[in-house]
Parts: sequence; structure tokens; C-alpha cells
Amino acid sequence: MPKLSTTSIHGADHLSRVPDVMPPINISTTFRYDNDPSKLVKIQDLDPNLPIEDHVYSRETHPNASMVEEIIGKMTGAHAVSYSSGLSAFFAALTYFNPKVVAIGNGYHGCHEILDIFKENWGVKEISLTDDFSQLGKGDIVHLETPVNPDGTSFDISEFAKKAHERGALLIVDATLAPPPLMDPFLWGADMVMHSATKYFGGHSDLLAGILLSKDPKVKTGLIRQRIALGSIISNLESSFLLRSLRTHELRVMKQSENATKIVKFLDDNKEKYSQIVSISHGSLQTEDFITKQMPNGHSALFSVIFSTEEYARAFPSKLKYFLHATSLGGVESLVEWRALSDDKIDPRLVRFSIGVESVDDLIDDLKSALV
Ligand SMILES: *Cc1c(COP(=O)(O)O)cnc(C)c1O
Repeated sequence: MPKLSTTSIHGADHLSRVPDVMPPINISTTFRYDNDPSKLVKIQDLDPNLPIEDHVYSRETHPNASMVEEIIGKMTGAHAVSYSSGLSAFFAALTYFNPKVVAIGNGYHGCHEILDIFKENWGVKEISLTDDFSQLGKGDIVHLETPVNPDGTSFDISEFAKKAHERGALLIVDATLAPPPLMDPFLWGADMVMHSATKYFGGHSDLLAGILLSKDPKVKTGLIRQRIALGSIISNLESSFLLRSLRTHELRVMKQSENATKIVKFLDDNKEKYSQIVSISHGSLQTEDFITKQMPNGHSALFSVIFSTEEYARAFPSKLKYFLHATSLGGVESLVEWRALSDDKIDPRLVRFSIGVESVDDLIDDLKSALV
């Protein structure tokens, strides 16, 4: 089996339709049927396992989406289905499993906004990850985001898998903050893994995409059937950009993770000196036993700092030179965000950092000059 970087570059070479080294951007929404009348298959007679090389209409499948799914499927050892955004992937997962109860923690606010729609429209019940799981039944969902946004700290996936499976419920892990090779949630009992590919898979702050992963080929088929109706496949342009991004995936993610861990160490070592720092959250500061097993190759490139006052946190981003003050994460450029701007439930003293691939010495110097 080729290793991660080889797969992320060559995993879909066999699906190339032209000799181009970089697959071309396809803008066609429709594809010619076979010219041989004997090869024409009516829609009701199509193989339910949907052949990915015969494209008909781009809401169903299109060439670069299939290549993205082939590569990410191989990178994660699962079956991948691509979506137009991380949130459309989460919407698709809830639509597919159709739970009555969903256990969910803090974490990305947008997933809560999707769940609110299910609560309002269909009376789905929400419980928290610390509630009594006896409220969960067969087919219900435990949704675990780990590492969790905005702290970059991890939860023990196997603990939640066990608690979910005892009740016949399924565990979905939002692994956006720890793409391969940082973490494999399937090893610890996840039934489905979701990613906002907008973040680390994309890595350049220039595309919006989501991914659902399952070990079960029937789940992939079912998700694609529903996606055809939902119309939420990754777009033509974004799938092409994502193929570009995947070629440097491991390089970027490892460098970002190393940079973040060095910066967190610098801040933690010097927190006595910088009295404005109240606390720092990051996986590298966690000491529980499961951490080194679940995150064997490094920690998320995202962390947060609580400063002494709301005013300090609000002003801090504008003192930095290389960290751009913007929301989102996962790109090659470091970002900083006074998080209260985009999450109304967050501590107003919290500042979130998404670390890129710049030289870590420059990033640390930038922080040093802002902190004095
Ligand atoms: C960004 C993000 C999402 C949503 O993804 P979009 O691509 O913006 O729709 C979901 N979960 C986490 C953890 C995220 O960071």
C-alpha cells in the first residue's frame, strides 16, 4: 500500500481522462451518452453502486468530484462522499441516519444551527455529551467534534463510541481539526467521520467543501442517492482546487501541526512573563493517556488563548503582523480571531489561532512584539 503523500498525489491517476498531469477544470454540467445504442442503460436499470467513471449530469457525479472521493477514500481507508461544504455534509449525515435524538457537545456553532433546523422541523431532540445516554435509542446519533473548535483539545473517541454503541446509537466524529495523518477516528470506533474540507484538506482558504466517510460501501451508495436529490455535491471548480490541494496535504498538515505545537510551547513556557495570558488550550498541553494513542503524529494546528480582559482580546489581533485577523482555519497562512465576532456563546476574552506554514520563528517574534 502506498503511503499518505503518494496516495494524495497519485491515488486517482487511473481515473484521468486526458494525458494532462494536472486534471483540467471541468465546467460541463452534462455528459454525452454512449454512441452505441446497445450500451444505453435506462436510469431504473443502473447499477445502484453507481459507476463513477460514467458521468451523466454534474449534480449526480462529475470527473473531479470522483477523483477527490477516490483520493480521500484511499487516504482515510474509507468510502468518501464529497459535498459543497462541511455543513452540507453534516446536513446530509443527519438526513441519511434520520435520528430521533442527537447528543452533541460544544464546538462548531454551524453544526448546532443545522441541528436547530431538525429540531424545529421534525422534533428531533438534542441532548449534551454529558447528559444521561439512556435517552438514546437505536439509530440515534452521538456527534463528537474532536479536536474541538476553538480549543484544539481532544475527547476520547473510544469512550463515546462505547457509550453510543451500548444504546444502539451511531457515533459521527467531526475530525475537521485533525485530518490524516494526525488522527484516524475509525480506529477508535467512529461509524462515520466528517470533515470540512474547506479547512485542512483545502488548505489555501480558497475553496468550500465537505466530506463524509464510512467504512460501509452501502452507506456511500445511500449517501450518493440522497445527494443527487439534495443537490449538494462539491462544485466543479472547488473539486479541481481540492485536487491541487491534496497534492501537498501531508506536507502542509505536518508543518502546521509542528508550528502550532512550538508556538503553544513558547506561550506556555512564558506565561508568567506575559501576565495578560490567563490560560492556553491545545492538545499538546493535555496529559490524559488516550491523547498519545489517538493523536500519534502531532496535534491540531488550532489553539486558543484566554486573555485577562475582553478589551485586550479585542485589540490583540490588530497588533500582529503575520497573523491575519479573519475567521476560518486550516490555510497555509496563519489566522487569528477574536472569537466573539463569529460565535456569540464564546468567552469574550478568547482569541483563536490557526497556524499556517510560515517560518515559526517569525510567527513567535510577531507574538512577542504584540504581547509586550
Ligand atoms: C468550518 C467547520 C465546519 C463547517 O464547514 P464549512 O465547510 O464551513 O461548511 C464544521 N465543523 C468544523 C469543526 C469546522 O471547523
